[in-house]
This record gives sequence, structure tokens and C-alpha cells, in this order.
Amino acid sequence: MRKQFVVIGLGRFGRSVAQTLSDLGHDVLAIDRNEHAVQLIMHNVTHAVQADAREEETLRALGVRNFDVAVVAIGDDLEANILITLMLKEMGIIVVTKAQSTQHGKVLERIGADKVIYPERDMGIRLAHNLIATNVLDFIELSPDYSIFETKASASFVNKTLGELDLRKNYGITVMAIKKKEDQIVVAPGAKAVIEDKDILVFVGNKKSLTKLPN
Ligand code: ATP
Repeated sequence: MRKQFVVIGLGRFGRSVAQTLSDLGHDVLAIDRNEHAVQLIMHNVTHAVQADAREEETLRALGVRNFDVAVVAIGDDLEANILITLMLKEMGIIVVTKAQSTQHGKVLERIGADKVIYPERDMGIRLAHNLIATNVLDFIELSPDYSIFETKASASFVNKTLGELDLRKNYGITVMAIKKKEDQIVVAPGAKAVIEDKDILVFVGNKKSLTKLPN
């Protein structure tokens, strides 16, 4: 379903969010006080406006309260970041805000931000995981300890069933899906599901369990 997003602050991060949402077919209102930042994105989003988002009247005039989600991607100016998050929450919309530090993130949560993101920290964690485990194709962090991982099936798993491998007992992981060739996917595979060459496993597990899996 087509959704409406407002992205405030068009640095590298905000621009990337706005561009990707737009590429995915959603309506995007992009706001930045800097003219150059607005020009860089104006042909790629539904509407791009040069404005200082600290001005409540401006946000109201742009109809921001009618949007589904706002992304506050202002980094350095913490005061603006916090004030704008607060105003958007008072307007009653869902707000995702970029934080610069854990303390900043706590303030944002306290004033009602629905989601606080730490792009640099999270990208660093993601890269480190990818570097230590070459089989990891992707992962989503569920908590500091648990994640959903996508990995190439280990060579030693090929032609064996999930029942035989007993991955939960042996490695502490639970397979949620097996991605097969040609975009086929087996969701919630049973004990009889056979792992084939080039299969990709999607599983929930403790981060430490990942290091125990064979390559
Ligand atoms: P990057 O995403 O490139 O890492 P950053 O985290 O360093 O960026 P900033 O450069 O501080 O973030 O801000 C991102 C953008 O937000 C800038 O283009 C800036 O002009 C814009 N911005 C800052 N304050 C406001 C404001 N009050 N209203 C609108 N835009 C603003």
C-alpha cells in the first residue's frame, strides 16, 4: 500500500531514506533548510521544500500531521532534532528519529519517539558481523543477544534433513525458512525438510551460536 512519509534533514542518511522510499513507490515530502540539499533530491521525491522544520507553523502549513510516518534525520543540531521530534509527536504522527548517542536516544524515547535509530552504530555492528562470519548474508537484530540471520547453508548440512541435523540442540538455532533456488522459499520447514546445495537458511539464534556453525 502506498504510504506517505515526511523526511526532515537531507544529509547523506536522510537523502538515502527519502530516495529509497520514493523508489519503492511511496509519497515523500522531503524538507531541509539548506537549498542545496533540497535541490539534490527535488527530482526524485514527490515534493521537496526548503524550510526550517523548527517552525511549527511551517510544519502545519505543509500538512505534516496527515502523513503516516515522519523521519527526523537531523544529526548535529540536537536541539532541532529533539524539538522537531516533540512537535511531530504533538501532531499525533509516528516519528522515527536518528540519535547521535545513547543519552540522546534516551531523551528521544522519553519525549515519545516511536523508533530511535543509530545508523552509524548499527552499520558498524552489521559490518563486524559480516566480517567475522563470511556465510552471513544479512541479519536483523532482535535484542542485544538474539538476531534473525540469513546464511548460506554449511556444506556439511547438504543432503541432510533438519531432523538429522537437530540444529536447535546442536547449535541453539531455530530455522524459520529455507530459501531455495529460483526464489522459492519453504516457510517453517519441518523435520523432514532436506537441505540442498546453495540453500540459504533463515534462522533465529543467539549471536554466539553463529560462531559455532560450520562453514
Ligand atoms: P548525514 O546524514 O550526512 O550523516 P548528519 O547526521 O551530519 O548528516 P546534519 O548534517 O547535521 O546531519 O543534518 C542533516 C541535514 O539536516 C542537513 O542537510 C541540514 O541542513 C538539515 N537540517 C538541520 N537543521 C534543520 C532544520 N532545523 N530544519 C530543516 N533541516 C535541517
